[in-house]
Amino acid sequence: QQLVEDLEKTIENIPNFPKEGIQFKDITPIFLNPQLYKDVIKDLSAFSRDKIDVVCGIESRGYLFGIAIAVALDVPFILIRKKGKLPPPFVGQKYDLEYGSAEIEMRTGQLQPGQRVLIHDDLLATGGTTEAAALLIEKQGGVVSQFSFLIALKDLAGEERLKKFNAEVHQILS
Ligand code: 5GP
Repeated sequence: QQLVEDLEKTIENIPNFPKEGIQFKDITPIFLNPQLYKDVIKDLSAFSRDKIDVVCGIESRGYLFGIAIAVALDVPFILIRKKGKLPPPFVGQKYDLEYGSAEIEMRTGQLQPGQRVLIHDDLLATGGTTEAAALLIEKQGGVVSQFSFLIALKDLAGEERLKKFNAEVHQILS
């Protein structure tokens, strides 16, 4: 509860960014406060302890916490990147955006079939990005066991979209 209060005080709500009518949550002030950052990692790693074999983090803010969760739990970390950043061989997954589509990619061979995966990102909104990440894991024979976020926006139905994966979901703020 203290963590929730501290985060609510720290994360900045920026109106009309990146587009008119959107309120952007800026998490960067967390990194000005090492103790708060450690508390976040403690919370997120406690959720996943003994439940996963690998952490997959979504570019780019998912890396800021994902890699620390992986190190805390002594498990590997794999980067899920936006299209065009990774050298081959890689495997990709397309997904729809409000206008048009996007694609995420992972290096082939880093995830082993049967491994239990935590998919981590800083924020869940519509769930489109996270859903694509989960499909990408399944495509490679991985088991989507958990999702975690700092923030899951309740009004955007992201959680509804993740239900089909039958994985545990954790967020610190909603
Ligand atoms: P979704 O695919 O669930 O609609 O959007 C989630 C993705 O967009 C995440 O990768 C997240 O980093 C980014 N995102 C969307 N809105 C915000 C926001 O208000 N703050 C931050 N930090 N990231 C956001």
